[in-house]
Amino acid sequence: MISPTILKLITSVRSFLDRTGRNFEVFTKPDGSPVTTSDLGVQILINRFLIENYPDDKWISEESDSGLPESFLQKVTDLLRESDLEENLTGFNVGQILQNRGNVAGKSWWMVDPIDGTRGFLRNEQFSVCLARFTNGKPVLGLLICPNLPFPDLDSTETGAVFYWEKGSEPVQFSYRDFETKNQISVNKNPTGILLTSVERDHSRMEKVEKISQGAGFGKILSFDSQVKYGLLARGEAEALLRIPGSDSYKEKVWDHAAGLGILEAAGGQVSDVNGLPFIFSGEETLSENFGLLASNGICHFSILQQIKEIR
Ligand code: AMP
Ligand code: MG
Repeated sequence: MISPTILKLITSVRSFLDRTGRNFEVFTKPDGSPVTTSDLGVQILINRFLIENYPDDKWISEESDSGLPESFLQKVTDLLRESDLEENLTGFNVGQILQNRGNVAGKSWWMVDPIDGTRGFLRNEQFSVCLARFTNGKPVLGLLICPNLPFPDLDSTETGAVFYWEKGSEPVQFSYRDFETKNQISVNKNPTGILLTSVERDHSRMEKVEKISQGAGFGKILSFDSQVKYGLLARGEAEALLRIPGSDSYKEKVWDHAAGLGILEAAGGQVSDVNGLPFIFSGEETLSENFGLLASNGICHFSILQQIKEIR
């Protein structure tokens, strides 16, 4: 049973994204990555949900108000208002609601990426709204809202899939448009011959991914933006997901993995870094002990790690 508050959050996010459509502004952050007014609008809806329903939890999120021009934040407020979602703002100052709760030393905390794959969103391709709750460093809830992902599988013409898992229940996917159309998901233990990786070339070293893929006997590499890749793996449409960052010093951000990891592990999959080390979520913004990502159906994990060792 998915709680009515989670379904209400998904409905608000859907209304906001539907009503704003391609009406957004883009701002380039100091690190050169783009952020849109849609990222901030969704972040506000999620923060409001957390404040109302989990007043004692902390959170770490990709977006906050820091460094954003006043005019950009005003546009976010205007878009939320035009989307008839202004009740979500009553009594809140936009700057205040966007502040990270920080200092994640408490027992339970959330990791949020309001629009993971912003570059995919800009291309009108794949992106996902990602939300994870961890208790004592372990996942207890994962939500991936994937508005552009074919549902229930890649061959389908319907778009919009939501992946959800909560500790004590089975992971499911349901239609973004009709929450009643739902099925349990699990990884595919049979070979599909498909390996997943990023679209952006500086996010994953394509030439190495190709060699490793060949060495491990995969027939096909499919590229998608964002954590939709975790969802595809969790519903059995691929065998593995590999990400070798372009820079050796790149540290993965927790909000790029936390939601997908919980769902995938519950669906029978395995997650580690490219050296085979499990991800360590310490409450920081980055996975400082880890490098890159290898996620799989569990069966092919070891043989891909062997290929990585030989080729890297
Ligand atoms: P993906 O679509 O799987 O490539 O993941 C998108 C995420 O990659 C973004 O949310 C960023 O946090 C992250 N990212 C940004 N720059 C890099 C980089 N140089 N290497 C690896 N990941 C990155
Ligand atoms: Mg992201």
